[in-house]
Amino acid sequence: MKKILIPGMISDIIYNGVSGMDGAIFGDAKECPECSGTLVPHDNKKKRFATVIEHGAKRMIYVNVRRFRCKACGKLVYARSPFYPDIRMGSPIVDFCIANTDYFTYNHISKILKSMRILVDPKTIGNYEALNLPKPPSIEISKAQFPVSLLNLSNMGVPGENPTKNAVMLDLFINKNKKD
Ligand SMILES: [Zn+2]
Repeated sequence: MKKILIPGMISDIIYNGVSGMDGAIFGDAKECPECSGTLVPHDNKKKRFATVIEHGAKRMIYVNVRRFRCKACGKLVYARSPFYPDIRMGSPIVDFCIANTDYFTYNHISKILKSMRILVDPKTIGNYEALNLPKPPSIEISKAQFPVSLLNLSNMGVPGENPTKNAVMLDLFINKNKKD
């Protein structure tokens, strides 16, 4: 199988997007999905979004998801957040895995992610594939599929980075790729 090399600039943008999610707060919920009742804030749940490699060591990236209590039926409702139900990993990373399973082995996808300093073991990728989630919209960069959800992360909440600059750089790569 052909070895996939992700350009350093792309891998930096993806890494910054993922690690920049650390401490992000998701607090948006409209009404109770069960009974359309009014929601009142209940608490914040810390959820693991990703595991990355920083200076050679593992680092967990956590986000905060607000929970609400329905005033009418008492149901606990999570704010909208980038997670699939019952998967303990941010959905943009899950999307990357399932976008590439038609093209690469689980082992190879794990290696591509690791080259971007994101850790997902091959067995976990197999578990995601088994869930038969819909294939996410994605863009091919350097022969790998990059889901839009993952690319979009680099446009938000990256401390010290210029989001517009990232977006322009990604655009350059994507356009260059199309001509190849
Ligand atoms: Zn309710």
